[in-house]
Amino acid sequence: MDLNDLLRDTLRRYAAYEPGEQPTGDGWIKLNTNENPYPPVPEILEEIKDAINVRMNRYPDPLALDVRKALLNQLLRDKDTLTNRNTVFVGNGCDEILDIVFKVFIDPGDEVVFFYPSYGMYKVLASLYNAKINEIKLNDDFSFPDSVLSSKINGKLLFINSPNNPNGKSYGNAAILKICTNFSGIVVVDETYADFSDQTSLPLLKKVKNLIVARTFSKTFSLASMRFGYALADADIIKEMNKVKLPYNTNYLAQMAALSCIKYKDKLYEQNKKIIEERDRISKELNIYNGISVLPSDANFLCIKFDDKSIALKFLWDLKDKYKILVRHFNKPGLYQYLRVTIGTVEENNKFLDAFRDLVNIYL
Ligand code: PMP
Repeated sequence: MDLNDLLRDTLRRYAAYEPGEQPTGDGWIKLNTNENPYPPVPEILEEIKDAINVRMNRYPDPLALDVRKALLNQLLRDKDTLTNRNTVFVGNGCDEILDIVFKVFIDPGDEVVFFYPSYGMYKVLASLYNAKINEIKLNDDFSFPDSVLSSKINGKLLFINSPNNPNGKSYGNAAILKICTNFSGIVVVDETYADFSDQTSLPLLKKVKNLIVARTFSKTFSLASMRFGYALADADIIKEMNKVKLPYNTNYLAQMAALSCIKYKDKLYEQNKKIIEERDRISKELNIYNGISVLPSDANFLCIKFDDKSIALKFLWDLKDKYKILVRHFNKPGLYQYLRVTIGTVEENNKFLDAFRDLVNIYL
């Protein structure tokens, strides 16, 4: 048997997603994968522990009805969005939601549109599903090019990441609405980081039918390890998404943890205020240095632009080798001169700022 003869032809051209480094061992300061630096509040951890004691031998609710109800009635109550539980889908993180959207809409050769630079998973999935790719370059300041706001765009799926990873800025709803109107297919707004900003495209769901808003409990709700995401869209779209998902795509503990996060959402939002305050403090403290600038961010990370791309790499390597601080660099066109830094705890951020100051004295 030759394995290569058996593999899907698509896999010969496929480049898998490269997750940020997850180091083993102690003492690392992980500012490279945009996780929440704080664990969920103690009340939630207690409820997760209690949940372990029940039902482990039973399958979870395949449609996660309790969580879907709680999402609409409690979590999104004030967000001026769709309110029927047939308009919400839950999945194994936002990444699964993206995959499900491809499963529902993409046959080989169908056109998928996304922007560059943005979250790498859109391209990975587009290649996996053998889609025709239309990658549109963002302006140098990461804003949309005028063409997508002023003319028709063809395709089956179009992805917008707001706030956009890696720069961190949100797109306004006026622009997103224009793109929904100009696009022939479904627009997916990936709002993984939206709870760190005061903007959301959720109200647009009442205006257009070709929109899916995808969100996650990984960031604001500190549940990255549990894998829980959700999407809102017209009931007809959600029905198709539920048809193609695997039966038990969200596990029982994740459902219980999500319910608990919704119950204690105000405490979590309060905890996240610290991240937002820290984001603004770090941004101010870094912006005094010559040779770099910090981009405006609505997310739980900051993107630092270095005038000289080789200096960006020196910072990346020294932060790791000398200080055990991991930040993210993307070895991709247009991104060589940037480092993306996740906001950590106050203590982690202070260590990062001290290390950064040392390196400024050496390299800038
Ligand atoms: N979208 C974006 C823009 C992300 O940055 C990430 C996480 N790195 C995801 C989706 C995936 O999130 P989740 O943990 O919910 O799968």
